[in-house]
Amino acid sequence: MDKERVKKLVRELIIEIGEDPTREGLKDTPERIANMYQEIFGGYESDSELSVQFSEDSDVVIARDIQFYSMCEHHMLPFFGKIHIAYSPNGRVFGISKLVRLVEKYSKRLQIQERLTKNIADELFAQGVKGVVVLADAEHLCMKMRGVRNDATLTSSAYRGIYENREEKDGIITMIRRRASVESH
Ligand SMILES: [Zn+2]
Repeated sequence: MDKERVKKLVRELIIEIGEDPTREGLKDTPERIANMYQEIFGGYESDSELSVQFSEDSDVVIARDIQFYSMCEHHMLPFFGKIHIAYSPNGRVFGISKLVRLVEKYSKRLQIQERLTKNIADELFAQGVKGVVVLADAEHLCMKMRGVRNDATLTSSAYRGIYENREEKDGIITMIRRRASVESH
């Protein structure tokens, strides 16, 4: 990302919005936005890999409530919420921090929720696990503050491997959701 160019473009945008980019409150805004974009769009530069694993076996591993923030590619407004990942290991398991990094790798981009869900499932499944489920519950500011102005939460899901099977799928979703609701009571 060319930071100086981003600053120039943001300054232009401020002018087109009808504001004065030289006034006190706005004069450092292009710089702040350029810095922020480097952070929130850092997913493009992520070299995070799922290669470090522990030798261990388990029927299923569930990482629930991984908080994420992303930017919708249609409006460049935030959408955010929680991602739940379940997978059936094939002799090796991934550290939880690796899963969090995986979520960040794909959320810190211009995204749509459905693709974010698929990207995570595909990368995890490519590691040779027996099956993967990724569920994402998110709210979208582009729907809340404009357009239909609705507070609905959108859920998206991706299933790979053994979880493409109907019975396995139902079982694992119940597991992810049941444990989540037990905690909230
Ligand atoms: Zn949008």
